[in-house]
Amino acid sequence: MTAPFPGLRPAYVAGAVFLTALAYTSVQHGAHGYAAALCCTAALLLTAARRETLAARQARTVAVRAERAARARARALADDQQLADVYARGWLDLHASCCLTAWHTGGTDHDTRHCTRKDTNR
Ligand SMILES: [Zn+2]
Repeated sequence: MTAPFPGLRPAYVAGAVFLTALAYTSVQHGAHGYAAALCCTAALLLTAARRETLAARQARTVAVRAERAARARARALADDQQLADVYARGWLDLHASCCLTAWHTGGTDHDTRHCTRKDTNR
């Protein structure tokens, strides 16, 4: 798709208005064939202006969708990174604990004076 050019639409409309004025002058002077040709050309310019509007709208829609997809990817990456951080912290806590019971209970059901370290993770 060709990128829309913002200055084209007003130029097309201005050209159509100018051709319509010329057609009016042609009718006043009895040149009905020229007037019809000028009106058809003005209609072509208005069609081009409409297509330019639709192209701009389509380009804007594509840009919005790309932006939304990029933001969703960034959010997913952030969620993955957050999960990886929690997971790594869990492993660090496990390695830093005295034994599995101490890690599992968060040290609440554990007495280091009587720990036999039978279920040690090291
Ligand atoms: Zn222990």
